[in-house]
Amino acid sequence: MFNSLSDRLTTTFKNLRGKGRLSEADVDQTIREIRRALLDADVALPVVRAFTGSVRERALSEEVSQALNPGQQIVKIVNAELVGILGGQTRRIAFAKRPPTVIMLAGLQGAGKTTLAGKLSHWLKQEGHRPMLVAADLQRPNAVNQLQIVGERAGAYVYAPEPGNGVGDPVQVATDAMDVAKSKLHDVVIVDTAGRLGIDEELMQQARDIRDAVQPDEILFVIDAMIGQDAVATANAFNEGVDFSGVVLSKLDGDSRGGAALSVAQVTGKPIMFASTGESMTDFELFHPDRMADRILDMGDILTLIEQAERTFDEKETERLAKKVESGEDFDLNDFLTQMASLKKMGSLKKMLGMMPGMSEHKEQLESFDEREVDRIEAIVRSMTPQERANPKLLNGSRRQRIARGAGTTVTQVNQLMERFGQAQKMMRQMRNGGGMPGMGGGRS
Ligand code: GDP
Repeated sequence: MFNSLSDRLTTTFKNLRGKGRLSEADVDQTIREIRRALLDADVALPVVRAFTGSVRERALSEEVSQALNPGQQIVKIVNAELVGILGGQTRRIAFAKRPPTVIMLAGLQGAGKTTLAGKLSHWLKQEGHRPMLVAADLQRPNAVNQLQIVGERAGAYVYAPEPGNGVGDPVQVATDAMDVAKSKLHDVVIVDTAGRLGIDEELMQQARDIRDAVQPDEILFVIDAMIGQDAVATANAFNEGVDFSGVVLSKLDGDSRGGAALSVAQVTGKPIMFASTGESMTDFELFHPDRMADRILDMGDILTLIEQAERTFDEKETERLAKKVESGEDFDLNDFLTQMASLKKMGSLKKMLGMMPGMSEHKEQLESFDEREVDRIEAIVRSMTPQERANPKLLNGSRRQRIARGAGTTVTQVNQLMERFGQAQKMMRQMRNGGGMPGMGGGRS
C-alpha cells in the first residue's frame, strides 16, 4: 500500500535527521524531493503543487517548537498536509433517521463495486445491521450472478430480477427493491449499479435515474487505486454526473503507485470513506486519513512521541535553563533533576527510545537498556540536599556515604554518577565557549 511513495518520503526525511537547523536551501531541497516522490507516485500535478507550496510556507514560517528538531518539524508538517489532502477527519456512513439507509455504488466497470458490496454488507452485519444487496447492474452478463455469490459469502440477502426476464430495467429493480427491504425489515440497502469501461453519458444518466428513484443517503464512488492519472478525470466525471458523497479506494493492496487515488479527495472535495485491500471479505477498512498518512510516512509511533513531547515539555523551564547556561552559570544537579522528571513524565524511556525512527537498527542495545538505571540515578540525586545539588564540590566522603545509604546504592555508584556529571558539565562549558559538542556535528556555528 503506497509502498514506493512511502519509501521515497522516508528516505527524504532520513537525510534531515542529523541536521540541527534547516536553512531555506535545506527546506527547498526537501520540498523538491517530496515533489518528485509525489509525482512519481502519480499524484495529480495541481495537488502536488498545492501540497508542496503549503509545506514550504509552513516549514519556513512555523515557529520551531523546542521539543522537536527541524527534521521532525518538517515530518510533522508533511503529515498534517497529507491528512488534509486525504480528507481530514474520518467520515462515517450517515445512516438515515428512518431506515432503510440506502447506499448506492457507482464507478467504472472493474473498479471493485460488486466486491465492495459484499465486503460492505459483511462489515455492516458485524456492526449489527441487516443489509440487503440489490443487483441493479443489468449491463454486464454475469453481474447479477456475481453479486449473488458475493452476498452468499457475506451472509446477506440479495434482491435480483428473476432470471430470464431479459435485460430488465435497473431503475425498476431498484425501486422494487426498496419495497422488499421495507417489508423484510432490512435497515441498510446497498444498490450495485452498472459500470462501463469508460465514462459515457448513457451510463451516467442511468446512475442518475437510479439515484432519483431510490434517494440514497450515501453515494459511494468506487475507484481502483491502480488506475493512475485517469483517476482524477474519472472522479470528476462521476462527481459531476451523480454527485457522490464519498469515495472508496479499492485494490489498495497492490503495490501500485496509488498516488492518483490520493488526489481524488482533494480534487472532488469528497471524503475517502473506505479502503478495499484484497479479494477476501475482510480485506476492508474504514478509511482514517490520519492513520493512512502515518502509514505512508512510515512514522511508527513518532507522532505519538512528538505529541507526548509537546504535551510534557515545559518551555518556560527550558528557557530558564538556556538562559542560565548562556549567562555562564553551571547546569547543576537541581536542573538535572527537573529535566529528568520531565523526561519521565513522557513515560517509559525504553518505550520512548523504541518509538524513535531508525531504532529498529539498534534493537539489541535497546533490549539491554535498564530502566532501573534511571531510577537509581534519580534516587541518588534525590538523596542530596539542595545545597549539595547546587554545589557538588560539597560532596566529601561522609556525605557520599550518607547519600548512598539514602538511595540504597553503593558509594561507588555515587562516585560514578558524580564523575559522569562532572564530565557533562565540562562539556557544556566547552560548548558555551564555542567549542561545539564533540562528536555531535558541531553545536552552534
Ligand atoms: P465491478 O465491475 O466494479 O463490480 O468490479 P468487481 O467487484 O467485479 O471487481 C473487479 C475485479 O477486481 C475482480 O476480479 C475482483 O476480485 C478484483 N478486486 C476487487 N476489489 C479488490 C481489492 O481490493 N483488491 C484486489 N486485489 N482485487 C480486488
